[in-house]
Amino acid sequence: MKRYLELSQQLDAIKAEMSEIAKKSFEDGAKELFNNFSQLESFAWTQYTPHFNDGDPCSFGTDIDYCNINGIDDCNGSNGNCIKCKKDIYRWNYSKTPKEEVKICTDCGGEAEYPMGPLADAVHSFLRAFTYDDLEKMYGDGYKITVTREGISVNEYNHD
Ligand SMILES: [Zn+2]
Repeated sequence: MKRYLELSQQLDAIKAEMSEIAKKSFEDGAKELFNNFSQLESFAWTQYTPHFNDGDPCSFGTDIDYCNINGIDDCNGSNGNCIKCKKDIYRWNYSKTPKEEVKICTDCGGEAEYPMGPLADAVHSFLRAFTYDDLEKMYGDGYKITVTREGISVNEYNHD
């Protein structure tokens, strides 16, 4: 029991320190993203506690898995083309488990290209590094957060 309580205290201390440095880490990490990707203009997500959840308990959540990049809801960099025949290709094959990236055009065998892929992957993994707890502490409950080169804006978000 003693060891358990010790570890529990350590965990609380670690969580408190994480929360303390979260905002600065976020700002530094965002700057790095904009430096690494010149085509990145903005990314945005919402976070709130729903008022209604089909009879299930309503708990705080975010939509970072469906975040918005450069004004487009394509957090997975899903839209691409065949470099030969230019056909539109969707990046992910969800019929495979785990999902697989589509690399070859089924029409002509040409290579598939996803211009937003690496950028979307970087933004996505950056956002997912933060715990929901820390995101709530940093930016509140019921908000849309938009990050640009100029800074971070937090606006009230109307939700169900
Ligand atoms: Zn093709």
